[in-house]
Amino acid sequence: MKTVLISGGGIAGPALAFWLRRFGFAPTVVEIAPGPRPGGQTVDLRGVSRVVAERMGLMPAVGERQLHERGLAYVKADGRQAAAMPAELLDGAGPVAEIEILRGDLAEILADATSEVEYLYGDSVTELTQDPSGVDVTFASGTRRRFDLVIGADGVHSRVRRLAFGPEEQFVHHLGGYTSYFTVEAPEDLEHWMKIHTAPGGRWVGLRPDRDPRFAKALLSFRSPLLTYDRRDVEAQKRLVRSRFEGLGWHTAHILNGLDASDDFYFDTISRVEVPEWSRGRVALVGDAGYCGSPMAGHGTALSLVGAYVLAGELAAAQGDHVRAFPAYQTRMQAYVEQRMELPPGGIKMAMPMSAFGIAYRDFVLRVMTSRLLAGVLAKSAVAKPDAIDLPDYRARVR
Ligand SMILES: Cc1cc2nc3c(=O)[nH]c(=O)nc-3n(C[C@H](O)[C@H](O)[C@H](O)COP(=O)(O)OP(=O)(O)OC[C@H]3O[C@@H](n4cnc5c(N)ncnc54)[C@H](O)[C@@H]3O)c2cc1C
Repeated sequence: MKTVLISGGGIAGPALAFWLRRFGFAPTVVEIAPGPRPGGQTVDLRGVSRVVAERMGLMPAVGERQLHERGLAYVKADGRQAAAMPAELLDGAGPVAEIEILRGDLAEILADATSEVEYLYGDSVTELTQDPSGVDVTFASGTRRRFDLVIGADGVHSRVRRLAFGPEEQFVHHLGGYTSYFTVEAPEDLEHWMKIHTAPGGRWVGLRPDRDPRFAKALLSFRSPLLTYDRRDVEAQKRLVRSRFEGLGWHTAHILNGLDASDDFYFDTISRVEVPEWSRGRVALVGDAGYCGSPMAGHGTALSLVGAYVLAGELAAAQGDHVRAFPAYQTRMQAYVEQRMELPPGGIKMAMPMSAFGIAYRDFVLRVMTSRLLAGVLAKSAVAKPDAIDLPDYRARVR
């Protein structure tokens, strides 16, 4: 049985472990955090990612934890609505999709679905040495083990990518912003909407419904060139975020009150990841580690679930021969990845304007696009884009 080490127990890692085990491999997942990471906002399952989730048998659990957001509304400092995109307007193809679930809930469902897999929590890979028959791995804990293959599913700042492909700067492109997510108590007026207040300086103060109505998922995002900070120092990151938002209107004070107490705080750059070739010998990448359009593009969860399925499926179809399977995985995924990494029109500049005029202009454009006159055109343009991938049923081939 071929042994596969997967670095990263987020979304792509457990999904890959699920399929590899199903197809007769022996996966091990190493995750730097002490357990499955909670947190994150709503992510969506649409198109082929839903097909993959169905094939994994996850939909009953997803259905139980599904959220029903009414849409996205931009609000002013006093809470009045400036513009809105109701979910039904784009029939689930807009920023709020038909099947929405909290990222933390999906991570938990995936952990449950892979309870038979070996997980090494609180550890990470520090060294990789490949030779023609396998990969020697050294872990931070000091353990050394040998695997047939190693997969980097360790996110935007992938260590496996750094060790096997080269420095992060070659592959990660900063789009000019940072984002943070955490849970706070819900204010009364959210009414199942995702609400965002945009303040001058390219700052977003947002709240989205939680599954538990007592809480809401806060987001604080801001435009900025690259900053230097310690990725492990959560308290310093919280201070940095606070300093950018103090004094703003709407629910900012309430959100900042919840910031210090939050135990699921997540902070990262808004970045794209582009790696020309997703494998080097016996090492390959899946999910954000290999391809990521940033939270501005969305689709990170979908790309992870589909990428994990295709990678495992191609390895199974090639009887574990990575020399054939890794390029086949990339060929099958490439067009879909490029399609789903596309940023919305205007990118970060349009979504997070720097000036009051820019904010008013963005809201005006959204009001026009969602007006009775143009809503039909908008809906048509959003719906007519099927996923650019032909998804084989590897289950049938491998049986
Ligand atoms: C806590 C959290 C919250 C998030 N919230 C959102 C959100 O609200 N909206 C959104 O669009 N995207 C969010 N993301 C990103 C989103 O999950 C990904 O874009 C997408 O699901 C792709 O998944 P992934 O498994 O490739 O990467 P990720 O979900 O980022 O998972 C990578 C995993 O690798 C682990 N890891 C990192 N370095 C190492 C290492 N050296 N060794 C071992 N393990 C390592 C991380 O702890 C993490 O669990 C979040 C990610 C995390 C970790």
